Amino acid sequence: MNFLLFDIDGTLLLSGGAGKVAMERSFETVWGIRDALRTVPLMGRTDPAIVRQVLREADLPQEDSQIEKFREYYFWYLEEEIGKDRPGKALCPGVLPLLNALSGTPNVELGLLTGNWRYGGLLKLRHFGIDGFFRIGAYADDSMDRDALVPVAMDRFRQTHGMNPAPEKVFVIGDTPFDIRCGKPHGVRTVAVATGVHSAGELQAESPDWLFADLTATDEVVKALTG
Ligand SMILES: [Mg+2]
Repeated sequence: MNFLLFDIDGTLLLSGGAGKVAMERSFETVWGIRDALRTVPLMGRTDPAIVRQVLREADLPQEDSQIEKFREYYFWYLEEEIGKDRPGKALCPGVLPLLNALSGTPNVELGLLTGNWRYGGLLKLRHFGIDGFFRIGAYADDSMDRDALVPVAMDRFRQTHGMNPAPEKVFVIGDTPFDIRCGKPHGVRTVAVATGVHSAGELQAESPDWLFADLTATDEVVKALTG
């Protein structure tokens, strides 16, 4: 069975800045920090890693209770922001036909590997009606470090199917160098898609097993992911 692990932002969808705005509103609500993310890079990072870096740069203590409060506000604001009309908010090209094709393919398990907190990721997917495609996932709730998420996802696969996934049948699909790098040490296949901010050239430099400009060539992508 092939186990496909999709990143969310820049790979499945673009939130049109909803995630960023929801985070900035939460920083302002909980700590009074304005424009918290102006200088902090978001790409490929997990949500809690972003929060902790902002606190570090603001010389504020990293109290778990405050971070938990931040998380609750973030979900609240995200649900509001993702529902607004936003330029650029969209599923990435080819995603819906691809998910439909893959979900109709035998011996394929669709999963998520994302730096989003689980519920935040779910809010984004649900907005576009694609949450039902994914059964298994590894999220920022599991580790602040994206590099630790492949083993978590593989463990969940084992709990669901009663067997280990073969590493050569696990595919990490993402839009940043971080997605490719988190798969390599575990011997899994890596698939880069240039629908986020990273160019095909930047992604090629990470030597993914496959590189696609986008996911519109459904047959070709299905073949890569199920071969
Ligand atoms: Mg991404």
